[in-house]
Amino acid sequence: MNFDLTPEQDQLRDAVRALGRRYGHGYFVEKAKAGEHTTELWHEAGRLGYLGVNIPTEYGGGGGGITELAIVCEELAAAGCPLLLLVVSPAIAATVINKHGTDEQRKRHLPGLADGSQKIVFAITEPEAGSNFHRLGTVARRDGDDWLLSGRKCYISGVDEAGHVLVVARTEDAATGKLKPALFIVPTDAPGLTRSKLDMEILSPENQFLLYLDDVRVPADALVGESLDAGLPALFAGLNPERITVAAMGAGTGRYAIERASEYTATRKVWGGRSIGSHQAVAHPLAHAAVQVELARLMIHKAATLYDAGRDLEAGISGNMAKYAAGEAAALAVDTAVQALGGAGMTTEYGVATLLGAVRAGRIAPVSREMILNFVAQHVLGQDKSY
Ligand SMILES: Cc1cc2nc3c(=O)[nH]c(=O)nc-3n(C[C@H](O)[C@H](O)[C@H](O)COP(=O)(O)OP(=O)(O)OC[C@H]3O[C@@H](n4cnc5c(N)ncnc54)[C@H](O)[C@@H]3O)c2cc1C
Repeated sequence: MNFDLTPEQDQLRDAVRALGRRYGHGYFVEKAKAGEHTTELWHEAGRLGYLGVNIPTEYGGGGGGITELAIVCEELAAAGCPLLLLVVSPAIAATVINKHGTDEQRKRHLPGLADGSQKIVFAITEPEAGSNFHRLGTVARRDGDDWLLSGRKCYISGVDEAGHVLVVARTEDAATGKLKPALFIVPTDAPGLTRSKLDMEILSPENQFLLYLDDVRVPADALVGESLDAGLPALFAGLNPERITVAAMGAGTGRYAIERASEYTATRKVWGGRSIGSHQAVAHPLAHAAVQVELARLMIHKAATLYDAGRDLEAGISGNMAKYAAGEAAALAVDTAVQALGGAGMTTEYGVATLLGAVRAGRIAPVSREMILNFVAQHVLGQDKSY
């Protein structure tokens, strides 16, 4: 067992940490409150090669794996800048296109994803289907060489920032029953594709949207892969990277909150000369949260290592466990930090309550804690499928 990063991964961690700290949580909050995006940070990270660390070098990426991308996600979050679109664009979309796209799709999309000039977001969730992807109702039907897509998607992150959206649909002749997905790379300005912004109680520079697809016409080469058979493996290819990187973002956010709180409690004195952190009722919850975050980090490291070694099934189990552990740990860490700061914890200035909405959402999305427990019960504990 090796718990050390390689020297290159260490350098990446240090460099991303330095970049994140240069922007900091104040920048993230300012952008979110102004209804703006973290464009400067995104582009600088792209120029420095951090957004494409997991994309092959022949397409302008760093040639690394999900371990490297998880480092980027964690360190930016640990600096107070948890960027959800890292999970959607380089982790999900780039992996799906790299592993299951055609040569032409790789050449067209990966260089832009690698340098951050292009974003591709991901649309699977639907109002009626929810967690049950077998009920997806977005249908693709042939019209000559083209495809026409119709349906509705919800909570889709970052559509306003992206050139394309990777839409999970099903074909007309497989419109019911077990999902046989077909994935399409759809321009966000395609005629018939409209969106409305959802009001979310999350302080974030990234937005969620309802998407309406009304006979959206796309050419044959918008279908991911050479044939419809690519759909299912393409969809699955995105899942492990998604779980691992969102877990890394959660762990980074947890670290950030605990660091803010520890600095505060070590210096805040309200009972004579003693810091409030010297009271175990203040320090122990923080120490407990720190343990939970570190446990989650270990599971993330394991999942990323298995994934990068091509051990997908084992990575699936570890990735789900990592996502669960990190989601819970991040929520605990931020809530504990708010409590430790007292009134200051609820101010914008101290920058912890600003993360409450995001970490709460992290227990629901991109896969809920209950659906992970279902997965673990079935695949680890050998229980009958419960749904
Ligand atoms: C901030 C945010 C960003 C998102 N971004 C995207 C995005 O970019 N793209 C995208 O496609 N989606 C996105 N989503 C959607 C997200 O993936 C879904 O919200 C999530 O998968 C849950 O689906 P649902 O909201 O329909 O909940 P439902 O399926 O309605 O479930 C509601 C509750 O019931 C529980 N539940 C449901 N079924 C079971 C069961 N069988 N056993 C036990 N419990 C169950 C769930 O765990 C949940 O707690 C985002 C969501 C949020 C909040």
